[in-house]
Amino acid sequence: LTPAALERYLAHPTSLLLAPTATMAEHLRHQLARAGHAVRPKSIQTFAAFLDEQAPMRAAPAALTHWLLERALARQQPVRFRAVAEFPGFLRQLAGLFDLAPAERFPADVAGLFQDVKNELDRRGYAPRHARLAAAAQRLQREPLGVPVVLDGFFKLATAETALVEALARSGEVTLTLPEWPGAEPTLKRLRAAGWRQQRVAETPRAPVTVVRAPNMEREVAEVARRILEAAARGLEFRQMAVVVRSRDPYGPLVESTLARFGIPFRSYFTETLDTHPAIQFRAGLVRAALAGWDHEVLLRALRLPASGWGGTEAGDALDFELRRGLPRSGWPHTAGLEAQSRQAPADWAARLRALRDWAPPLVVEDGAGWERVRAWRSTALAERGWEAAVDFAAEVLGDSGPVRLGEFWKHVERVLALEPLRVPDQRRNVVHLLDAYEVRQWSLPLVFVVGMTERHFPQYHREDPIVGDAVLRRAGLDTAEDREREERFLFTLAITRASEQTILSYPQYDERGQETLPSFFLPEQAPELASVAVRPAPRAMPEPAIPHLDVTAWLAGRHAALSASAVESYLQCPFQFFVKKTLGLIERPKAPRDRLDVRTQGDIMHAALAAWVERPETGARAFDEAFEKFCRDCQISASYRVEAVRLEMLRSFEQFTRDRSVVLREWTRRLEEPFDFTLSAGLRLRGTLDRLEIGPDGEALVIDYKYSAKDKLGKRLAAAESGEAVQAGVYLLAAHHHLRLRVAGFLFCHVKKEVAWGGWHRIPDLAAVGERRTAEGLAELAEQARQAVLQAHQEILGGRWEVRPADEQKCGWCEARDVCRVETLARVREAGA
Ligand code: SF4
Repeated sequence: LTPAALERYLAHPTSLLLAPTATMAEHLRHQLARAGHAVRPKSIQTFAAFLDEQAPMRAAPAALTHWLLERALARQQPVRFRAVAEFPGFLRQLAGLFDLAPAERFPADVAGLFQDVKNELDRRGYAPRHARLAAAAQRLQREPLGVPVVLDGFFKLATAETALVEALARSGEVTLTLPEWPGAEPTLKRLRAAGWRQQRVAETPRAPVTVVRAPNMEREVAEVARRILEAAARGLEFRQMAVVVRSRDPYGPLVESTLARFGIPFRSYFTETLDTHPAIQFRAGLVRAALAGWDHEVLLRALRLPASGWGGTEAGDALDFELRRGLPRSGWPHTAGLEAQSRQAPADWAARLRALRDWAPPLVVEDGAGWERVRAWRSTALAERGWEAAVDFAAEVLGDSGPVRLGEFWKHVERVLALEPLRVPDQRRNVVHLLDAYEVRQWSLPLVFVVGMTERHFPQYHREDPIVGDAVLRRAGLDTAEDREREERFLFTLAITRASEQTILSYPQYDERGQETLPSFFLPEQAPELASVAVRPAPRAMPEPAIPHLDVTAWLAGRHAALSASAVESYLQCPFQFFVKKTLGLIERPKAPRDRLDVRTQGDIMHAALAAWVERPETGARAFDEAFEKFCRDCQISASYRVEAVRLEMLRSFEQFTRDRSVVLREWTRRLEEPFDFTLSAGLRLRGTLDRLEIGPDGEALVIDYKYSAKDKLGKRLAAAESGEAVQAGVYLLAAHHHLRLRVAGFLFCHVKKEVAWGGWHRIPDLAAVGERRTAEGLAELAEQARQAVLQAHQEILGGRWEVRPADEQKCGWCEARDVCRVETLARVREAGA
C-alpha cells in the first residue's frame, strides 16, 4: 500500500479503500492486520464490488453477452464478419469491446450488433460495464457517498472510470494514487483540470537486479526453486518471496508443478475457468461421448479421469481394456438419459445433466487431511456448484424455445464452463506468491523472481485491433496497440521495483523446440549475469513396501523357467524392454480399431495365409483372402481406404510368394506350425513354433521362418544371427535336433514383403541358389552360439539385470515400453560421460 494512501485511509474511521482486484484487496487486509491496524474488512473492497453496489444495473454474465452477440450476428449477418462469425476467439474479442464503450463509438456494423445486445441486456436488467460506470457516476451525483475514498493499486483509469472518480470527488474527499508513466497522464490531466491537487511521492530505492541464464525453461524454473529453498534456509519466509510471470501461459503450469516437486508451498493467483476442473471434465466428457453416439474413445477419455472414480484403479483399467477390445461394435449399456437425437424441453436436459453427478463417486470429507486434499475437496465442491449454475443458465436461455436437441442445450452449458472463473479460496499464509505482471503491482517483498525474460514473452508485442482498428479505438478513448506496447515497458518497471532485497530476472537459452531464444530487450545491460545450476528435488522418503517379503530369485526362476526365442531376442535388444513385457507382464492397452492392422497383425495374417497355401496350393489367393477376412473379423477391423490399401499390398506380396519356386524339395515331406518345447539346461526350457519344417527322406530337416519384411532387411537379420545378437535361427536348429530328433540340414529366413527373398545356411545340394552352404559342423556351431547366448541371457535375467540398454535404438520407436524407460535421458547421460 502506498504510504500516502495508507495515511489518508487510516486518518478517518469511515474511509473506504478501493483496490483493482480481489486478491489485492485481500492482500491489503492482511497487510494492514499484520501491521497492527484494526480495520473493518468491508472498508477495503474491489472497484468491481463498489460498482456493483452503486450501479443500478447488474453486470451481465459473460456467457449471456457471448450468446446474445452470437444471436445478433446470426440475425444481422454483417458482411465483414461472415467468415469468422462462428469463431470463439472472434466472439471473445467482440465481447471485450462491447464492455468498453457505447455502440455509437464504433463502425456501423459493430454498432448494430452492440445496440441489439444492449437492448436484450436492458430487458433482463443487465448492462455493459461502461454503461454501469456512467449510471453509477450519475447516482453518486444525486446521492453522495459522504465518506473519504482512497483508490490504490491502479496504474491508469479508463475514461468512464475517471468520470466515476470525479463524481465521487464532488461529494467528499478522494485520494487516487497513480504511478508516473505516460499511460496515467490522460487521467492525471483530466483530474488536474477538474481542480484536483497533485502530490508527488518519493520513489523507493530499487533492489539490486541479477540476471540468470538457464539452458531451457525447466532448468530456469528449477533454478528459481533452488534459490527459493536457499533463501528459506537463510531465514526468509516463503511469503516474502514471489515468482512473477508476464502472463499465465506458458510459464504458470510449469512454475506450479516445479514448486510442488521441490516441496515449496505456493499460492497461484491465476484464475482458472470451470472447464479446467477434472470433475467438470468428466461430466463434459460424458456429454461429448453421448453427442458422438457414445463413441468409446471419447467415453474412455472421460472414464480414465480420476474424477470418474474409475481412472487410475485396477477395475478402471479392466473396464478400459474390455471396452477397447469391444470397439467398435459392442455397446456401452448406460446412456444416462442422454440420447443425442431426441428432443427434450430445456428443463428436462437440465435435470439429466444435473444427474450426471451420480456417475462420479460422492465427495467424502475426512479428518486429518493435508492441504492438497482439502483444496481438492473445496475445488470439487465449487466446480459442482458451477456445473449446476451452467446447466441452469442454459435452461434459462432456452426457456421458451420448446424442445431442443442435446447439442443445442450443451452449447450453452459449454460456453459458461469456458468463461466462468473457478476461484478456490486459499487462506494459507506462509506461501510463495505466483503472480502475473499486472497482479504484482501492489506487492512489496524482499525477493522477487521474474521468469521468462525473452522477446515476445516479456515484452509481448501487440497488433492493431482486428475488428475496429486502432483509429476507432483512439477516437473512442480506448487503448491502441501502441498504448499496450508502452504498457509492456511499464509492467516490466513495476515487476523489477517490487523487491526490497533482490530481483532475479531469468531466461531460457533454448525454447521447447530446441531453438535459440532472443533474450528480452528489457534485460538491464549492467546487471550481473549468472548461469543456472543443475538441480533436482531431494528424493522423498519412500513408503515401506506393501508387498510381504518375496524370495525374488526363486520367483524369477519360476517366472522365466521357459523362454521363447523372441523373448530372448527382446532381452538382447534391451533388458528393460524384457523386464516390462515378460517379467512384469504388462500388457499394452488394446489398440483403437483404426490402429489394429499394425505391422504385427499384418505379419500374423501373412503367416496364416502362407501356412494355408503351402498346405493346399490349389486354394490360390483364396488362402490369403480367408486369412485376411478372419483376422479383420476377429480383431473387429472395419473396412476403410487404408485397410483396403494394406490388403492389396499384402495380396501382391502373397502372390509373389506363390509364384516363387526357389525352395522346392521333391520327395521331402512338410510340417507346418510345428510346436516345440525342450529342456536346454537345468531350470530352462525353450519353446515356440516352427513356421515350416521340410523333412528329407533320410530324416534331415530344413527349418523355414517367414517374415513379413522387405528384402533389404534380410542382410541385417542374417548378420545378427551370425554374430549371436539374434538367436532365433540357432534356437530353431536346436529345437529340430533336441525336440524333434531330426538331423539338421539348414535354416532359412524367407522375407515376403513386396518381393520374395531367401537367406540362411544349409547343406542341401538341391538348394544351391538359395542361402549359404554350411557343413553339419557349421550348423552345429550356429546352434551352439545361440545356446550360449540364451544361457547367458537367462543367467542375467535371473540375476536381475534389467537396465535400459537398447542394442538398436531405431527399434525404440515401436517399443511398447518407451513411455516408461526414459530412453531419451540416455543421450544426456552419455554426454555427461557416465
Ligand atoms: S524404448 Fe528402447 S530403451 Fe526403452 S525399453 Fe524399449 S528398447 Fe529399451
